Amino acid sequence: MVLLAPKPELFYYPATIWVPAGLYQERDLTFSLERFLHRHDVEYVAGCVTGLEATSHRLYTTVGEMAYERLVIAAAGNTARKVHGLEHVCIPCDGYPAVLSLQRRLAALQEGTLAFGFSGNPHEPTALRSEPLFEFLFGTDTLLRRQKRRDRFHLVFFTPCMEADERWGSKGPLQRELAQRGIECHVGRGLHWFGAAGIQFADGEIPSDFTVFIPELVGPSWAKQSDLPLSEDGFIRADTGCRVLGFEGKVYVAGDAGHFPTPAWVPRHGHTANHHATTLVRNLLGDMRGEPTQHTFRQELIYIVDTLEGGLLVFRNHRHSFAWRSPLLHWAKRLFIRTYLREYRTT
Ligand SMILES: Cc1cc2nc3c(=O)[nH]c(=O)nc-3n(C[C@H](O)[C@H](O)[C@H](O)COP(=O)(O)OP(=O)(O)OC[C@H]3O[C@@H](n4cnc5c(N)ncnc54)[C@H](O)[C@@H]3O)c2cc1C
Repeated sequence: MVLLAPKPELFYYPATIWVPAGLYQERDLTFSLERFLHRHDVEYVAGCVTGLEATSHRLYTTVGEMAYERLVIAAAGNTARKVHGLEHVCIPCDGYPAVLSLQRRLAALQEGTLAFGFSGNPHEPTALRSEPLFEFLFGTDTLLRRQKRRDRFHLVFFTPCMEADERWGSKGPLQRELAQRGIECHVGRGLHWFGAAGIQFADGEIPSDFTVFIPELVGPSWAKQSDLPLSEDGFIRADTGCRVLGFEGKVYVAGDAGHFPTPAWVPRHGHTANHHATTLVRNLLGDMRGEPTQHTFRQELIYIVDTLEGGLLVFRNHRHSFAWRSPLLHWAKRLFIRTYLREYRTT
């Protein structure tokens, strides 16, 4: 077994939401996988995939060409760079330095308007990162209150997309949270560009002293240099068993890189990627044994939207949906993450 990746490490994004409050630092989020790979007898190759010829089983990489028998793609997608003026905004999912800049800018600002927003992908309704954006927004609100300077800031939320409440399938918990916190809300306004002084929409502008923005996701850029079937925005098309269409039994995809036939509310979350991975492995092992298996991944949305002082648990599947708000949920999320990461800390 060979792993091709830029670094033999895991960077754990979900806990970056607590960097602005000083609860986590880079060293708490980065885990070396060297011992883990050694224990599982995986050969590690440092590099990036740049293209693929799936019909002839050839992978093109920054360190040369590789042949494979079966290929698992788990290389995520990219954040879109379509809106002009992104140099004026902080994109927290760009990695640790971006989140750190959020922390520093918040500490330096004495007063003003802080705008938080995300965009979605009309061709790919699942390709957005709304929940982490809400966590940065609510976390900032809580942090400013704790620092007793919330009254000096005006908080604004914006998105050109549909209501998150609609996606969550519940009646208004997000709107209630925004209203209770005194956050001005702009939903469904078309984004034109970002400038140093604010945000330009199709129908007007909002002044902003600091803007945090998470663009929609698009497929991995290298996939365009491949013969894989791609969706309109470059995600790799697969069935709900994580087998890539046309290359079943040979090429598999899990996580944010894939395009799966699911309803629009099934999110691109780590939780979903875990479901993909379990399903993928079962099917791959079945294919290797020559047994026709057809495991499919669980389609659900389950997420604790953390607020630093509590949280909002959002759940949706094909039959049920609910949202539950509780102060305990902040601690539940921290406990979950601690437990989840234990395996990487001790291996
Ligand atoms: C701020 C934030 C908070 C989040 N919070 C949550 C949460 O609370 N709960 C939740 O379920 N989800 C959360 N998510 C979403 C979750 O992190 C992602 O959905 C999940 O990491 C996707 O997994 P993945 O394996 O597809 O991609 P990734 O975790 O991004 O892993 C992709 C890997 O591929 C490697 N790679 C990239 N390009 C190449 C290449 N060309 N060649 C080889 N290797 C490559 C990368 O180095 C990386 O190791 C959050 C995301 C963000 C940004």
